[in-house]
Amino acid sequence: MTRGRYANIIIDISHEKVDRTFQYKIPEALAGILEEGMCVQVPFGKGDHLRQGYVVAVTDHAEFPEEKLKQVAGIVTGSLPVEADSIRLAAWMKRTYGSTMIVALRTVLPVKQSMKPKEKKKLTRLLNAEETRSVLAECVRKHQSAKARVLEELVSEPELPYELVTGKLNVSPAALRSLESQGVIRIESESYYRNPVKLEAEKENGRVLNEEQAKVRQKVLSDFDEGKRKTYLIHGITGSGKTEVYLSLIEGMIKRKKQCIVLIPEIALTYQTLLRFYKRFGDRVSVMNSTLSAGEKFDQCERAKKGELDVIIGPRSALFVPFPNLGMIVIDEEHESSYKSETMPRYHARETAEYLAGLKNASLVLGSATPSLEAYYRASEGKYELFTLNHRPTGGSLASVSVIDLRRELKEGNRSIFSRRLQELMEERLDKKEQTMLFLNRRGYAGFVSCRACGYVMKCPHCDVSLSQHMGGRMVCHYCGYETRQPKTCPECTSPYILGFKAGTEQIEQQLRLRFPGIRVLRMDGDTTRKKDSYEKILAAFSSGEADVLVGTQMIVKGHDFPNVTLVGVLAADMSLNDSDYRAGERTFQLLTQAAGRAGRGQRPGEVLIQTYRPEHYSILRSASQDYRAFYEEEILYRGLGGYPPVVHMVAILITSPHEKRGEALAAGIANLIREEEITLIGPAKASIGKINDIYRFVLYCKSAEYKILTGIKDKVEEYVNGLGPKEESIQFDFDPMNSF
Ligand code: ADP
Ligand code: ZN
Ligand code: ZN
Repeated sequence: MTRGRYANIIIDISHEKVDRTFQYKIPEALAGILEEGMCVQVPFGKGDHLRQGYVVAVTDHAEFPEEKLKQVAGIVTGSLPVEADSIRLAAWMKRTYGSTMIVALRTVLPVKQSMKPKEKKKLTRLLNAEETRSVLAECVRKHQSAKARVLEELVSEPELPYELVTGKLNVSPAALRSLESQGVIRIESESYYRNPVKLEAEKENGRVLNEEQAKVRQKVLSDFDEGKRKTYLIHGITGSGKTEVYLSLIEGMIKRKKQCIVLIPEIALTYQTLLRFYKRFGDRVSVMNSTLSAGEKFDQCERAKKGELDVIIGPRSALFVPFPNLGMIVIDEEHESSYKSETMPRYHARETAEYLAGLKNASLVLGSATPSLEAYYRASEGKYELFTLNHRPTGGSLASVSVIDLRRELKEGNRSIFSRRLQELMEERLDKKEQTMLFLNRRGYAGFVSCRACGYVMKCPHCDVSLSQHMGGRMVCHYCGYETRQPKTCPECTSPYILGFKAGTEQIEQQLRLRFPGIRVLRMDGDTTRKKDSYEKILAAFSSGEADVLVGTQMIVKGHDFPNVTLVGVLAADMSLNDSDYRAGERTFQLLTQAAGRAGRGQRPGEVLIQTYRPEHYSILRSASQDYRAFYEEEILYRGLGGYPPVVHMVAILITSPHEKRGEALAAGIANLIREEEITLIGPAKASIGKINDIYRFVLYCKSAEYKILTGIKDKVEEYVNGLGPKEESIQFDFDPMNSF
């Protein structure tokens, strides 16, 4: 319930006018009832005709003299246009994650402006083949060679694309107009939808589901038919047929005249994935993602609204495609951190999908081989319904995993980054012409440079991070792009022993070439995938056997099956355990499990070697034994003891400022405000990266078992900051953050 005397209303949400609001008085009868996101009727324009509008804010601040404001006529209930749901969703996101209503609206409206339909011109002959031939003969006689060229084609083809004629046949528009006025041809244009899916494939039927799969299908669809709407979590090992289940569920939804949204991580939106959906559902499948042009996005939304699409596939933003009859949302690889937005509103696709499913009366299906702690926790509390897929329908077992203690390697005199066992196994693979993947479990991709004499670390002058060493003596800041050359001597103590800490993928590639002369290596990291398509190209090259080894960061462990890969080496598994946030253990477990899933996808069994300095850590032990359940039990205990999500909720408040002192003062002010509440407050403190691009960063964390208490804190902080007037400081909220600041 929001108190306030005025309502800011948008009348036209057709795209570009979203920012334009009109203020109305709230009549006594609606005071305290009217809230953001509601659809209302208001008098509009000269004749005061009633029009539909949406409340984007309720406020006590009048923008015009009171007597000039008109009054809201009433609330619209009953069946509302598709857009009404988008507005309600935006209002919910604003309340739940913190942002302005306008920014939230921009997030949920996938199209920013309406686009003209695309037109295709064609020419049609108006004469029959015989008559055309005689006109052609006449043109040849008169040496009208351009006209002759097009007529020659038209004899056999009654219709030709306009571009072909003006392009390849090189016939001028004037010549065509002349033919048109002679009554020989007609030039027409027809509009069509831009379709980003450019595939052609035979339709394929689904497989016969095995018992585990069939159980999911049966339950989800019968719940649906009984009017029950739930969230389901499918926990299934890689290759257990989760995607096959989604396809089968979608088929069931289509039979019920319902539409589906399928979210997959951006990086998994590949040709193969799309093809699989296309083979089942043909042209009624489309995609939505950031690489689409504005026109393509607009047209996909139009197709969705008109019911011409059954399925849309895409990353988190595909949630906002406006389907009038949404029946189901699927979130594959539900644990992926890319489902959380990194900009305001910092929404999580899982929670947002839950809210949206509620609005649309749809079901929600989550799937993962390594479910997020959030999802599994809710399943264990009975809020989600859990299904487990333990078998691979195609046969084939999971790879065998062993752990290598790197401390022992060192003790026994092996200083290489490759353990002796790994070297042996790689040698074997080279002999047998099988492939190996080497995975560096690390988010950055190169080492830092430090002085061995005084310990000085080379840092970016604009950001509070160390510079990363690249080939050719360059040092680069991965946050702002600052670049400099590596000094010959230490800037602090002039010692010449200023060296790189070699652990990046480039260095691994170098070491490989030294250890195995003639080895063919492909490398995949932030450096080699900067160009468009390079990601796909590297994977395709590796897949076609152009290299013996693929070295890379975590991007190589996602998706993609390489049947010839029989060995996966994780070089330093605990690197991701050193991340200073509470999700480090979970992230490590997920990455290692995924990496292990890459080995032995073909006929031959796979082997996985996990090298680590902390072989006793439960994330490493449990991923080696491939026991999610055991990992979960330990991890959830730790979350409970430490007071972390999902056991409690948490909000990070990030304060940024170009002035260190002012940022600090604002953070202190906010902290004082929060101390009045009875909740756990951590901070304020400098963020772990205290400065990026010369902007200082401070952070506060609040914890509470009740999410509502935290949104209350957010409202209070927003009000306080707004009350201070315009400032250079800005604040952001991040609920149940994926990464620490
Ligand atoms: P996941 O999404 O869990 O990794 P997929 O759905 O991609 O698993 O299935 C893995 C492989 O098994 C695919 O090649 C798929 O075609 C095949 N598959 C899935 N379900 C069945 C089934 N019921 N019968 C035969 N093959 C199946
Ligand atoms: Zn030094
Ligand atoms: Zn920098």
